[in-house]
Parts: sequence; structure tokens; C-alpha cells
Amino acid sequence: MTTRFIFVTGGVVSSLGKGLAAAALGSLLQGHGYKVRLRKLDPYLNVDPGTMSPTQHGEVFVTDDGAETDLDLGHYERFTGVHARQSDNITTGRLYSNVIAKERRGDYLGATVQVIPHITDAIKEFVLADLTDEDFCICEIGGTVGDIEGLPFLEAIRQLGNDLGRERSLFIHLTLLPYIATAGELKTKPTQHSVKELLSVGIQPDILLCRADRPIPENERRKIGLFCNIAQDRVIAALDVDTIYRVPINYHEQGFDRAVLRFFNLECNEPDTSKWATIVKRVLEPEGEVTIAIAGKYVSLLDSYKSLHEALLHGGIANNVRVNLKWIDSETFEKEDVSSYLEGVHGILVPGGFGERGTEGKIKAAQYAREHNIPYFGICFGMQLAVIEAVRHLGGIPDATSSEFGPSEHAIIGLMTEWLKGDQLEKRRKDGDLGGTMRLGAYPCKILKGTKLHDIYGADEIQERHRHRYEVNLETYRDAFDKAGLVFAGLSPDGVLPEMVERKDHPWFIGVQFHPELRSKPFDPHPLFRSFIEAAKKQSCLV
Ligand code: GLN
Repeated sequence: MTTRFIFVTGGVVSSLGKGLAAAALGSLLQGHGYKVRLRKLDPYLNVDPGTMSPTQHGEVFVTDDGAETDLDLGHYERFTGVHARQSDNITTGRLYSNVIAKERRGDYLGATVQVIPHITDAIKEFVLADLTDEDFCICEIGGTVGDIEGLPFLEAIRQLGNDLGRERSLFIHLTLLPYIATAGELKTKPTQHSVKELLSVGIQPDILLCRADRPIPENERRKIGLFCNIAQDRVIAALDVDTIYRVPINYHEQGFDRAVLRFFNLECNEPDTSKWATIVKRVLEPEGEVTIAIAGKYVSLLDSYKSLHEALLHGGIANNVRVNLKWIDSETFEKEDVSSYLEGVHGILVPGGFGERGTEGKIKAAQYAREHNIPYFGICFGMQLAVIEAVRHLGGIPDATSSEFGPSEHAIIGLMTEWLKGDQLEKRRKDGDLGGTMRLGAYPCKILKGTKLHDIYGADEIQERHRHRYEVNLETYRDAFDKAGLVFAGLSPDGVLPEMVERKDHPWFIGVQFHPELRSKPFDPHPLFRSFIEAAKKQSCLV
């Protein structure tokens, strides 16, 4: 293996866009013809982000192989098209639980188990594992330099710099140059301090990416170079952009890819960034617009629906329209007259979610869409609640519900305790752990011929990513579903699990038990989002 490793750290403040920087660099390197992989090392103590509230940490991004990961992996996939794996995201929590399990087994042969070398070795092993012919592996270190939790990770990558040699390891540090209006200047001091902090753990950054809201004057770049011991052409401006999909183009203009390739003594030709130029144009100069209402519970933090937000934008790119999003808190919504929120929107979407709070609002949204012939897209929870709505109001079971909300006579959505994954039977207990125990990752789904969903996908069988515990109880309530006009157009290959539902009596009413937003790319919009926005566009001509 001759993979080169690029370590990306962040300083000064969080939220500077380290994940995007890593993703955009990955895409630029692909544009130069290289094969890349991207990884994220997260210093928090949760074993994975699966049990964290989306309003705290943003969405949980699920990989094909069923890992619940950090949302940055979504950026990586959307920018590079490389599907992430279990081996691309690790947390302090998982590292410690692995190391402690080994210690209990007696694998350390009597040694005192310590952060250095045992945790740092586990980090190094993780960074180097599961790579074959990749030219570059970009590893992002979560958090900000100076965080206590981050220290073992910095120590591990420092060691890796030595182990691999400088010809195979590069350290990139992302910082902020704040503009101080009274001085009329971009300030370099926080960057100098941040680099000092990195130096104190033995890492001299090779390239600095400096976030700034305006071009960095030559003099400031020189100063940063001088104080941070970095050649001036390796101090790269990371300027604010109008759309994130401009980042690769911008980085290239600022010489980022050139600096990286030169560092490794690789030739630097002109990379292909044309796809980003097309996407940027589509995003910024659309020919029309549609408004989609999203009734969800985690609307207070945009990042909690990150992939959904992007997938809707991709649907807009495919249809050449701007997609305006109207976020509606389903809890407030359930107490009020829904028409004041939903009148005039061109599509209604109910995303994934957990727990009973706010569900009546989501059910009202599905009902409004059904009764007013407005395109409806229900994702995971949004499908389950649309099914409940239809069965309550059309299927003759007024108290239809989900067992997620407590015991009830008519749980038409029930807890799954076993299901097939390939040839393996997966089993869960009612009182089992919450973390990592859902039906997770890509599962195949067969699509019924002659349905709208079959037309949309243009395929008999597809694979989509799941993250849920409950499932429509098709077996017991088949008659009620028929009566309610629900057509289960997609089923698991064994015919047991309903994966997709549609209505025949409606222009576009679709629910899916999986998360299609996780697979959408700006250069390859997901067929369901493409079709949903197309339906919304038609709707916009009607209203
Ligand atoms: N709470 C539902 C379940 O666990 C839906 C989950 C989701 O929307 N991701 O089945």
C-alpha cells in the first residue's frame, strides 16, 4: 500500500467547515485522476453518534454497511461519490470500548494499558486499515485543536507522520482570520496561536487553510507564513462562498490542490472541475422555484436534516428550479390550523424521526397533502405516519397507531424483533440496547411493476439505506391498508417488509421506509427527489 495520508485539523473556532474542506479536497484530487478515501476521527465519548440528539450533533449519516456516523461523511460522499464504510469513522468511545474489551480478554499480556501507546496505537491501526489502491486517504480530526479529548488523536497522527515519512503524510490546518471592522483588517493572531497550540503537541502544519470573509492581502499571507513557519504559497485562502458546491472551484483558484500535489512532488495539471461549474450555475441561476413544507421535530438546527436539505437541493438542480424550504415545527403545528401553514406550498415532506412528540402534527400534514392533492413525500417516520393517517381516516381503524408510542390494540406499525439481512436472521429484544441496534444500512427492495415507484426508479430491484426499529405490519392489517387505498409498491425480497407505499388516487403521494436522501449527490440527484421536485413544479403551475 502506498496511500498518502492527509490529516486535517481545525483551530480557533468550530464550524469552520473542516468536513467540507476535506470533501472538496477529495473531489479536487479526483479531478486530477487520483483515487481517494475520506475518514473522520471523532474525539467524543459516544461509541457512535446514533444515540445523540440530532439537535445537538446534527444528523446521523448511515453508510451502506450499516454504520451510524458523523454527518461529515455525508459531505464526503456528496463531493466525491465514494461510499463511506464502517472503517471510515471512529470515536473515542469506540476506541476505548475496543481497547477495554481486549484488556478484559487478556490480550495485552499483563501490560499496563495506557493512552499512549494503546489508544494511540488503536487510532493508528484504524487510520491505516481497510485501504487498498487508494492514492490518498484524507483523515479529518473532529473538534478544535486545544480540546482535551482531541489530544490522543493529535499524538497518533504526529506519530504517523514519523512512521509513514514526510513523503506520505501531510498536515493541513484550518483556521479563521476574523475581520475587525474598527481596525479595517483581517487578523492573523488567532491563527498564530492555533499553530502554536499544534506545535506544542509536535505537529508543524504543512498547509494552512485560512477561512476569511474577504480576500487575504499579500502582506497578511506573508505574515502568517513567517510566524507559522510555512511557505507563503502554502497559506491558502478559504473564502466564504455563495453555495457549498463552489468550494472545490474556489480552492483550486486559491492554489490548494497545487500546494498539496507539490508537497508530495506530484505533477499538477489542470483538474476537471467542470461538473462543479455546472452545478453552481444550476443552483444560482434556476429558471423557476418551488416551495416545499417540511414538518419535522428537529427544525431548530438545520444540520439535523443535512442530507435531506441537500437532496432537495439536488432535486432542484435536476429540475432547474430553486427549492425554497419552509420548515415547520410539527409540535406547534399540531395545535394550530394547518392550512395557514400549508396553503400554497407545492409539496409537503415529513422526514424521519423518533418518539411520539409532534407526531399528530405530522399526521395532519400527511392528511392535508392527501386531501388537497399536494405532492407528499414521507421518509421513514414520514411513511409510517402517512400510513397511520390513511388507515385512521379511510381504513376503518380510527385508533390506528405505532407501538413506538406505547402499547395499543391497533399497532399497525410494530416493533421489528427479527428480519433477514441477506441469508442471516437478525434478532433484537424488546428491552435491548438503544445504540446500534436498529435495522441499519443498505437492504434490497423489490419494486412492483406498473407502479409509479417502478417508473421513478426504472428498476425492478434497488438498494437503499435504513435506520429504524418499527415496520408497517402488512400481514395483520392487509385489508385495512387496501381499504385505505395504500399500494405497497416496494417490499423486501422475502415479501415480508413493506419498503415503499404510494397512492393511486393522488398525483404524487409516496412514502419510503428508508432514507433516500443519504444517497443523493449534486451530480447524480436521487430519482425520488428528482421526481418529487418535478411533481412540485407541476403543482406550482396549478396554484
Ligand atoms: N421511529 C421510527 C422507527 O424507528 C422511524 C425512524 C426514522 O424515521 N428513521 O421505526
